[in-house]
Amino acid sequence: MIFDILTIFPDLLESPLNESIIRRAREAEKVTIRITNIRDFATDKHSMTDDRPFGGGEGMVMKPEPLTAALDSVASEKSKARVVLLSPQGRQYNQKIVEEFSHEEHLVLICGRYEGVDERFRAKSIDDEISIGDYILTGGELAAMILVDSVTRLLPGVLGCTDSAEKDTFSRQLLKHPQYTRPRNFEGEEVPEVLLSGDHKRIEEYRFLESVTRTLDRRPDLLAQEWFNKQEVTLLKKNKLYHKIRALQEEQ
Ligand code: SAM
Repeated sequence: MIFDILTIFPDLLESPLNESIIRRAREAEKVTIRITNIRDFATDKHSMTDDRPFGGGEGMVMKPEPLTAALDSVASEKSKARVVLLSPQGRQYNQKIVEEFSHEEHLVLICGRYEGVDERFRAKSIDDEISIGDYILTGGELAAMILVDSVTRLLPGVLGCTDSAEKDTFSRQLLKHPQYTRPRNFEGEEVPEVLLSGDHKRIEEYRFLESVTRTLDRRPDLLAQEWFNKQEVTLLKKNKLYHKIRALQEEQ
């Protein structure tokens, strides 16, 4: 998988993409991440990548020519690259989109700045627009890093234990169960006895029920969309949780 990130602030991205799991994934060639400075494609003598908006108003707008030239340098028209603009006006990023992106061969991420990009560049060259949430950042670089990080960890061979991605929060419409590690007693608080029992079936059931209870408490909207198998339904009924979930689903 190849990521090309187009930005006018390449230094912002260097350090976060050169640490920990992402660094190891790059070294093992599970992922290629290239950063292109849009400023290198400016044509005027001051290397301007932005200009005042037609019609007046506040701020500056990113010019279409340097953006187009930078994009052409990483992806030809015939290439299979999917061109994604980071934008607060895009579709809201979530784990389903992470999975969708993890199947792409080549993603080009365009980081906006100022008031954003010229509309004609957006209309002509962008395949998809992604927002990381209903708030405004100073630029698309942090959003691009979130995208690279979340997609890279799903690529084959990137995480040591694939299990850890499969059982994450949002892999189903459930939050992950609470986790405990050593010491067994921390400031008087004991680890739940069942986790020390060595009984894998009981541990699985306990974790599943904790996961459902936590989701009911914090994100009932997720549970309303979740589907449970026969065994899980029996367990939920036994623990008086099933009717709560059914009520949520009927409200939908
Ligand atoms: N004037 C724009 C508007 O009101 O829609 C906001 C521009 S913002 C200050 C500058 C750039 O930051 C955007 O072009 C985009 O690339 C990035 N950005 C800001 N908020 C974002 C978000 N929630 N998700 C993704 N990118 C965002």
